[in-house]
Amino acid sequence: MSKPWALRGFHMRFSDHNDVGNLKRVIQDALVPLGVNVLILECNTGFQFSSHPEVSGGTLTRADARELSALCKQHGIRLIPLLECLGHQGWGGGRNSLLRAYPEFDETPHVPDDAKWPDFYCPSWCPSHPDVNPLVFDLMDELIDAFEADALHVGMDEVFAIADDHCPRCAGKNKAELFAKAVNEYYEHLVGRQKVQMLMWADRLIDAKGMGYSQWDGDVYGIWPAVDMIPKDIILCDWHYDPLEEYPSVGHLLDKGFEVWPSCWNHPQASLNFFEDAVKQAETHKALDRMPGMLVTGWNATGENLVAALFGEGDLGEDQGNIRGIADTLKAVMERLNRSGSPVS
Ligand SMILES: [Zn+2]
Repeated sequence: MSKPWALRGFHMRFSDHNDVGNLKRVIQDALVPLGVNVLILECNTGFQFSSHPEVSGGTLTRADARELSALCKQHGIRLIPLLECLGHQGWGGGRNSLLRAYPEFDETPHVPDDAKWPDFYCPSWCPSHPDVNPLVFDLMDELIDAFEADALHVGMDEVFAIADDHCPRCAGKNKAELFAKAVNEYYEHLVGRQKVQMLMWADRLIDAKGMGYSQWDGDVYGIWPAVDMIPKDIILCDWHYDPLEEYPSVGHLLDKGFEVWPSCWNHPQASLNFFEDAVKQAETHKALDRMPGMLVTGWNATGENLVAALFGEGDLGEDQGNIRGIADTLKAVMERLNRSGSPVS
């Protein structure tokens, strides 16, 4: 259980050794003064794994991780690595370095490399392949050790490719049960064996149609009943980026017994509205102690472009990733969380 506003988080993808200096600057000169106390670094296969160099597709080293860990510890920031599990193993038909090294793990090997949305979204690994978890657990363990972390975020958002009709192991299986099986296996490894906390994105556990969400921040493929098949002490990062009238998933997931961490992106006012609605729902559902603050997601933010957006140094160019929006949201949300007194304004 967390006290209200105990988690003031920022998330970004990060796998570039040459950007560590910029990220350290961002931590020291922006995240610390803004009051951020959780930094989620989405490394995925961009880390240089010594256990499996064949899956490494980036330049971030163990020494970089230790350097960032030390800096964060010094400033009271909890550093949590993220390894995207199951889905998002590439974009469109393009496979990431893990599936290129282990094509036998591909859930949809028949999909051509140049496939694009809306024909195909992203490749997944096959959760039923007997050799996939031993590899994934090695990657998880190495990230936890490198970052000296007490938690791991397993991603698991936007899984569209699951129980594919062409997969000899998964065809015909129940998608919710298959998704829950993967969640439970990661949980057993992380929480059961490694004694660390587990976080994941919440979108696949939400009935998009029933709650008025899109197929991105909710599920339309029949995965969502998995919400009743997984442990309640997984922290669910419930992300919604568009301005909406209400965000009923917060109350719903709190009612299920989870800790729910509302997560926003690059739209300051939508983020603040989401937060106020989440507070209202947590109060209505008498679960304010399980709605611990807010997570600002940075996605395409890098150390370099954040230095440009936050400090005006360097050139953001066309800012296609809306890094200015991310920087503005980060400031607005942290100012809101830092406001003293009652959590409700
Ligand atoms: Zn499969």
